[in-house]
Amino acid sequence: MRPFDLGKLRAAAGGRPVSLFLDFDGTLSPHVPDGDLAAPLPEAREALAALARTPGVRVSVVSGRPVADLSRMVALKGVTYAGNHGLVIEGPGVEFEHPLSMVAGRAVAVAEGLIRERLKGHPGARVRQNGLTLSLNVGLMSASGRRAVARVVDSLTDELRWLRLRWQKGYLGWDLIPEIGWTKGDAVAHLMARTPDAFAIAIGDGLSDEPMFERVRADGLAVRVGRARSSAADWFLSGPADVAGLLHALARPR
Ligand SMILES: [Mg+2]
Repeated sequence: MRPFDLGKLRAAAGGRPVSLFLDFDGTLSPHVPDGDLAAPLPEAREALAALARTPGVRVSVVSGRPVADLSRMVALKGVTYAGNHGLVIEGPGVEFEHPLSMVAGRAVAVAEGLIRERLKGHPGARVRQNGLTLSLNVGLMSASGRRAVARVVDSLTDELRWLRLRWQKGYLGWDLIPEIGWTKGDAVAHLMARTPDAFAIAIGDGLSDEPMFERVRADGLAVRVGRARSSAADWFLSGPADVAGLLHALARPR
């Protein structure tokens, strides 16, 4: 992985229209122990607003959070929001819901009951039902509390498999992801197909962003927030403040 280089990005894009795909937590917003308090950095939001108004630039936020949360937290017109790991997409001229999302929603509802039952002795663990996905946050718990919740998480793996759900480790917790053959990468492909001439740039910090990185690599560029030993992204930035800096640079006329 190499440090991000704006000059090389401009050379690779070669003046083509640009489609930007941005993760939310850890990318536009710094990670916070209480996920309800996450917010995009003001500089990032300001740059996104400018980019969303720029002809030839499309901005999409692709996240595990539901579209309603994303559109409330980012609160910008002209931006496309792909929520629940891409199962639902809403934006200018695009409205998509994965045909199996209802099945995923039912499975998540059943799983939520199991998870809450098993977590009864762990009041610090926060379960957030996002309709089609679910997140479990332990950011406000002690180290021993987190370890105990990790054991509960492991103990549910088999039952979740029956529901076609799996855990994915996130920052300070886990996301419950429907296994229906649809990832953030598929959502990005769906959006890329609408602008086949555009140069795609994907930026994210987590495991769920890797399919998005793989998808854009063929005709675009993937940037990981935080250097990692193994990632489909070729470039890295150190944190959300650097992401905001990159967005500002892209928003400036050349
Ligand atoms: Mg993230």
